[in-house]
Amino acid sequence: MTIIPQFDFDIIVIGGGSGGLACAKEANELGAKVLCIDYVKPTPKNNSWGIGGTCVNVGCIPKKLMHEAALLGDAIHDATFYGWQIPNEEDITLNWKNLITEVQNQIKSTNWVIRVELRTKNIKYINGKASFIDSHTIRVKMKDGSEVKYTGHYIVVAVGLRPLYPNIPGAREYGITSDDLFSWPKPPGKTLIVGAGYISMECAGFLRLFGFDITIMVREKVFRNFDQQMANIITDSLKERGIKFLMPYQPLEVKQLETGHLLVKYENVKLHKMETDTFDTVIWATGRKGDLEDLNIEAVNLKTNDNLLVVNDEERTNVENIYAVGDITKGRPQLTPVAVMAGRFLAQRLFSHSSHKLNYENVASTLFTPLEYAFVGMSEETAIQKYGEENIEVYHNNYSPLEFSLPEKVVEFCYIKIISQRENQKSILGIHYVGPNAGNVMQGFSVALNCGLNADILFNTVGVNVTNAQEITRTYITKRSGLDPTS
Ligand code: FAD
Repeated sequence: MTIIPQFDFDIIVIGGGSGGLACAKEANELGAKVLCIDYVKPTPKNNSWGIGGTCVNVGCIPKKLMHEAALLGDAIHDATFYGWQIPNEEDITLNWKNLITEVQNQIKSTNWVIRVELRTKNIKYINGKASFIDSHTIRVKMKDGSEVKYTGHYIVVAVGLRPLYPNIPGAREYGITSDDLFSWPKPPGKTLIVGAGYISMECAGFLRLFGFDITIMVREKVFRNFDQQMANIITDSLKERGIKFLMPYQPLEVKQLETGHLLVKYENVKLHKMETDTFDTVIWATGRKGDLEDLNIEAVNLKTNDNLLVVNDEERTNVENIYAVGDITKGRPQLTPVAVMAGRFLAQRLFSHSSHKLNYENVASTLFTPLEYAFVGMSEETAIQKYGEENIEVYHNNYSPLEFSLPEKVVEFCYIKIISQRENQKSILGIHYVGPNAGNVMQGFSVALNCGLNADILFNTVGVNVTNAQEITRTYITKRSGLDPTS
């Protein structure tokens, strides 16, 4: 690696989340002198958190723990069908306060491990708000109001995203977002969740399984960018769990009543009809936005699009020595492993003569709704658009997980869809799976897809009995055949 003595640091990383930390640690491993700056702007409800970014504090980790809590509650009820004797099953309820305490303890111990790791590795960490002075100089505003300046040869922006609030009266005063939910002190009660993306559906899923009355408000359609057949299956599975959908509606105003309840005024956007209802909690899940305001990017003229930084395939911005990784970059999947690998590979290119770039194609992803959904590769719509309907084969399978049989759980939403080319060695373009343990099921198939999986190899692979994953190797029935896909 090159030592650049005229700067305080070889690399300054702004943002101590998934991407920033991965980049800082890899650069340090490769011998670079590293500064990592992280600052969390408190939410309107004055919640803030420690190092680790969104995933650790208000994203993947608390979300997955809440999802696990929800599945466990469900499993208690299923257990009676397997011979377990549970006295007064109806008395089993969730203690929200205990759950929050456990989740927050886990987060705090992760914050501590990260801080210790940075200290042990001799990576300088500053808890302060960074902004550009010029392309090599960063101003850090400390909590006590003092300011420090540091120079770096390379600057990496990894500042992530923050939730959006709708521009309506009462939104910030009375609503919360996923940035507040995982540390929210009181049980949410009757909850309205506004939004049509994965955060909305996942939060609705675990809150419903905790026993709360949940309504999701959607302006147009659910999961606009997902495979639409799969989006509908997920929506129906949530409805079957008792989640109500208000579609197509938009919120107009939130007011607090004397009782403490929230009165929400909303409108049917097609019929232009106004309605109201009261809730205990309103959660905005209406999208996330790059928070670039504090960074003073005007000082270095960084190119943006949609509040995200424009980068090339080496994560370089329009300024020679400034790079960006993670959610803040335009056109990249907004996922932790993507941010982590982008950060690591960037450090390797900068400090170890590597030319290895991240392949953003075929990144698998999971939706942690009560019935999980995972996919890798293309949606049916994208495959049709790219290859033409006559050139693709869509295989599907309405399978029944064995574990659903004794408790007689609903199997109609357990569905697999595989999209392949009809020619070109029947190359697989996409795999979609709804069912238990979806993320774990999809991980191996995503490796296979990256190795060039085709339909012949898949259907000649012997399954692992008695797993649900083996159903993917038995998804032979084509949509074109018109045969019943129920296995
Ligand atoms: P972040 O992790 O957001 O880190 C950016 C850091 O920079 C933050 O700490 C921020 O406060 C700090 N910062 C901002 N501005 C400044 C500044 N001026 N100075 C200093 N510091 C600054 N992804 C998955 O892969 N799987 C999941 O299951 C999943 N679930 C999610 C659930 C929820 C509810 C949410 C919100 C997200 C979820 N994600 C999930 C997405 C995942 O959390 C993000 O993709 C990931 O955290 C992005 O990492 P990042 O490094 O780009 O940004």
